[in-house]
Amino acid sequence: MGKTVQTTPFRSRYRIGFGNDLHRLAEGRKLILGGVTIPFEKGPVGHSDGDALAHAVCDAMLGAAALGDIGQHFPNSSPQWHNASSLLFLVHARELLDQAGYGIVNVDSTIGLERPKLAPYIPRMREKLAGALGIQQTQISVKAKTGEGVDAVGEGAAVRADAIVLIESWTLNKPPRSLRRGQIRSV
Ligand code: MG
Repeated sequence: MGKTVQTTPFRSRYRIGFGNDLHRLAEGRKLILGGVTIPFEKGPVGHSDGDALAHAVCDAMLGAAALGDIGQHFPNSSPQWHNASSLLFLVHARELLDQAGYGIVNVDSTIGLERPKLAPYIPRMREKLAGALGIQQTQISVKAKTGEGVDAVGEGAAVRADAIVLIESWTLNKPPRSLRRGQIRSV
C-alpha cells in the first residue's frame, strides 16, 4: 500500500480472550454445565458432553494466547472426544497455556438458559472448573440469566455460554520501561 507503519517491541504481560458457545437442547440428553449434571428433561446435542460453559471457557483461554480454537484442538470428528467430559478440554487448554508461558488471572462467564434455574448449581460449577484449571474458586465467576422468552435461549431451544479470561505471562512479569521506538516496516 506504500504506507509506513511504525511497530514497537511492546508486549504486555496481560492478554485477554473471549469465548462463546451454543448448543441445541434435545430430550434424552444429559444437561451438563461447568462439569455439573443438572436434572432436567432436555440436554445439549453435541459430540462431547455438550458442556457449553466449559467450551466457552476453553475458547476464551485459547483465544487469549492466540492458540486457535476449540474445534482445532478437539475436532468433533475425533473418536477420542466422543461423549468426553469437557473438563478434559480445560485440562488440556491449561497445559497449552502452561507450555506457552501463561497463567490464568481470572475467568468470568455467563450462561444463558431459560430453565431450570441454575443458582443452586453455580458453587459446584466453580469448584469443578477451578479444579480442572488448577486455579482457586475465587478466580472464576459463573453467572446465569434467562433469555426473557425470546431467541433460541428464551424459547428453551438452546443453551448458550459466554466467557472471558485474562492470562498473564510468566516471562514478561515486569512492565516494559517504555514504549520504545521499534522498526519501521512497510505494509
Ligand atoms: Mg460446544
